[in-house]
Amino acid sequence: MRAARAEGGAVVVVETDTTEPGRDEVVVRIHTCGVCHSDLHLVKQDWSFAPPSGPIGHEAIGVVERLGPGAERFVSVGDRVILGLGGAGGGYWCGSCEFCVDGHPRLCSRAKQVLGAMAETYTIWAPALVVLPGAVDDLEAPLACGGLTAYSAVRKLTTHDIGPGSVVAVLGAAGGLGHYAVQLAAAFGHRVLAVDVGADRLAFARDLGAEWAVEPGDAAATAAAIGGAHASLVFAASIAGYRLGFELLRKRGLFVGVGLPATEQGAFSVGPFEMFSKDPTIVFSAVGTVQEMRELVDLAARGVVRSHIGRTGSLDEAGAVFEELAAGAYLGRAVIDLR
Ligand SMILES: [Zn+2]
Ligand SMILES: [Zn+2]
Repeated sequence: MRAARAEGGAVVVVETDTTEPGRDEVVVRIHTCGVCHSDLHLVKQDWSFAPPSGPIGHEAIGVVERLGPGAERFVSVGDRVILGLGGAGGGYWCGSCEFCVDGHPRLCSRAKQVLGAMAETYTIWAPALVVLPGAVDDLEAPLACGGLTAYSAVRKLTTHDIGPGSVVAVLGAAGGLGHYAVQLAAAFGHRVLAVDVGADRLAFARDLGAEWAVEPGDAAATAAAIGGAHASLVFAASIAGYRLGFELLRKRGLFVGVGLPATEQGAFSVGPFEMFSKDPTIVFSAVGTVQEMRELVDLAARGVVRSHIGRTGSLDEAGAVFEELAAGAYLGRAVIDLR
């Protein structure tokens, strides 16, 4: 079977073997695989820990083709499934350590990530799969990482008592993650202050349900005029975005970091006196759980949220699609179509 790989800063397509399914694993025939910004970070080696080469792709939809022993307890041959859970944790979690039991399987020391789903087949642990209803199209593959990551971040509003009617700033609102968060936060009754760059991206954010859509340079004044944001969701993968997200908060606001800037950008800093005067809650939100994926699939099936696909391409076009993502050449998400 054919698979995309990161190789020396670019994407190549290679011929490779399908991995035999082990206990509780299945082989999925991949229909579509989303192109996530973290795949691009891996290809470009933006993160200091990224290996120079390796498999890519961690958000996909396909059909279960073959079962390993025990997997019949979770799925059947022919089921159309979504896989990925944002890469981290979607490949395995133990289910019994303090982090798993507490609903944070990503932090499980035995967790395995999904990597290599941009391929004709992918072998995966069946308990991490969610079977799709017919109403969710194959092109919704980016829900598995982009959508789930945004949904889990928006859910943090509820867990921190940020209720309907509150002002939620979304930084990077028109991007691959932010465009889901704007739809979800607006659907849950929040008033969305979208921050992004460029008139077309701001118009896109307004179409998705943002009440205000502004450039970063105008965000502080807009937020100040409405008393500041009750929460900031920072999807922008830049330290400047982190800093701006903090500055937009009103007193006792909730800061949710999500985007992962290149390591060379350094750290996000907040002064002790800023902490003293603002009394913020600062949390991080990464990917999500299989239960959150089930909830998101249900929201997508009911039309509450959908992926905006700005580019589709074949496996052979993957290299070009990655270059376009790096250049910001399309809005929303890209999908590699292997059907
Ligand atoms: Zn565990
Ligand atoms: Zn991702």
